[in-house]
Formats: sequence, structure tokens, C-alpha cells
Amino acid sequence: MERTLSIIKPDGVGRGLVGEVVKRLEASNFKIAAMKMIYMTKAQAQGFYAVHRERPFFESLTDFMCSGPAVVMVLEGEDIIAKYRELMGATNYKEAAPGTIRADFATDIEKNVVHGSDAPETAAFEIGYFFNAFEITG
Ligand code: UDP
Ligand code: MG
Repeated sequence: MERTLSIIKPDGVGRGLVGEVVKRLEASNFKIAAMKMIYMTKAQAQGFYAVHRERPFFESLTDFMCSGPAVVMVLEGEDIIAKYRELMGATNYKEAAPGTIRADFATDIEKNVVHGSDAPETAAFEIGYFFNAFEITG
């Protein structure tokens, strides 16, 4: 059993894609163990993406992440980190496999609709960043 953090980023929420993303999660039989809407501050976005702080896109990315509300979820299941990343598609939507969320909906390498953790250690950090144990009820 594994957990991963999913975010429907501000572009996804703003464009009315929450239902579409959740529909795809449910159609894939992914268990949603927690879900809430948040509105990140700049500092919160910087902390969340601290691993990327030296990258040229950090400033723009953290501005984007606090430009509107986002939906954060904890997904749970066997091999869920890899399975959810497969459903999302590659970071660059131009390289994402057909039928993935990013291939179907992303408009930009930055505005790519969704986030997913990339390893068990990052998932543990990212889930703890937005949820306490009492909020993971599913
Ligand atoms: N990103 C960007 N430019 C890049 C690479 C990444 O704007 O050249 C953004 C994009 O929104 C991506 C996020 O930074 O989702 C985190 O990058 P990462 O490499 O961790 O990709 P992910 O794990 O989200 O696929
Ligand atoms: Mg990443």
C-alpha cells in the first residue's frame, strides 16, 4: 500500500477541470483518501517546490501555484505513485502519451493541470505538507 499527493493546479481549477480529473481517477479505481481546496501563499508554494529552488522556472512556477485555488488529494493504493504519474503523462505535455491528463489538457510546460509525487519519500513530505493525519479519512 502506497500513498501519493495529487494536486489539480490553479489552471485546472480555473478552467473547470476538477470534475474531469476526478472522473479519471475514479475510472482508474484510484482510492481518494483525502481531498480539499486550498489557496497557496507564495511562501507555501516556495516550500512545496523547494527541491526546484535553483531552477530557472522556480519563480514563475511558484507564482503560478499561488495564482488561484488548487485541489489537493491523497491517493492510496498499490503502486499508486507510478500509476498516477502514468495517468498524468510527462511533465512536458508535448511529450505526454495520448490520452493522459497532460496530453489532453495542458497548455504549457508549466501550466500542466496536475501534480503527482515522484517517489515514496517525496510523497510523504508532500502529503504532510498539506494534510494532517486526521484529514486522511478515506
Ligand atoms: N516546470 C516548468 N518548466 C520546466 C519544468 C517544470 O515550468 O522546464 C513546472 C511544471 O509545472 C512541473 C513543475 O515545474 O509540473 C515541477 O517540475 P517536475 O520536473 O517536478 O515535473 P513533474 O514532477 O510535475 O512532472
Ligand atoms: Mg516533480
